[in-house]
Amino acid sequence: MTIFNLGSINIDHVYRLSAMPRPGETLHAQSYSQGLGGKGANQSVAAALAGAQVVHLGAMGMGDDWVLERLAALGVETGAIARLADTVTGHAVILVDERGENSIVLHGGANLALPADLTDRATFGPGDLLLMQNETNRQAEIAALARKAGARVIYSAAPFSIPALREVLPHVSILAMNAVEAQDTFAAFGENLPVEGMLITRGADGAEFRDLRPGQVWHQPAFAVKAIDTTGAGDCFTGWFAAGLSRGEDPATALRYAAAAAALQVTRKGAGDAMPNRAEVAEFLN
Ligand code: ATP
Repeated sequence: MTIFNLGSINIDHVYRLSAMPRPGETLHAQSYSQGLGGKGANQSVAAALAGAQVVHLGAMGMGDDWVLERLAALGVETGAIARLADTVTGHAVILVDERGENSIVLHGGANLALPADLTDRATFGPGDLLLMQNETNRQAEIAALARKAGARVIYSAAPFSIPALREVLPHVSILAMNAVEAQDTFAAFGENLPVEGMLITRGADGAEFRDLRPGQVWHQPAFAVKAIDTTGAGDCFTGWFAAGLSRGEDPATALRYAAAAAALQVTRKGAGDAMPNRAEVAEFLN
């Protein structure tokens, strides 16, 4: 079964500084690094490294071929990613000061200009999964197509937005969210959500999957590790969980692998570049 992932692709530009620049001030950075990011790309990489067949549905500007090469090297199918001449690849300018505080400027670029013909590249079939997050346009339209073709839709409601969730919710099979987003969702839509299941992550307190049809809940504690950077932990968890479901694992097994993968991920710096592979997760669980 294929996982299609309608998602953002970002380049993270990370500048380390002695202090944040004040308005009107110019500062030299102490260092610069460039990484792969965006919730979409992160989840595609996580699911591909978990062993799933992953087709990324998204868009980029014309340059930046290293991004496609890196995605492909990590096992993500990139043939359905549109290249747009009139906009740039999505990116984040991330300033980190000596105390580790960060300030981030995000530019959606191509992620928010997905072309109409992307639907031609979304060749869903029964049993496939469509992963989505809230960082692109065309979410409801492509989710509706997926459901019509018999695919299930997993929606990460982040960055959280009630209007975006309201629009996509009728097409969602499984909602994936952290505890704060889940609370806001219940407050806005009530407990009787029109979905088959919910994946809720609670940081170092673990995660749970609620099957809302028979009303069963599976709990998964987090593995005890020394976390150094939790950026992308939720994306790692969701990507691994989706990969488990796509190969027919029961929720308990998929949760356990996802928790192990996310535990490894938080011990490394970075997001998309810090996702563990199957061998690393198997060794961790041994
Ligand atoms: P982010 O926005 O940083 O990607 P999130 O809020 O979406 O994160 P979390 O609930 O913080 O997601 O984390 C997802 C999963 O990652 C948790 O359910 C847990 O399994 C794992 N995890 C996160 N933090 C830790 C930690 N400190 N130690 C072990 N596992 C962790």
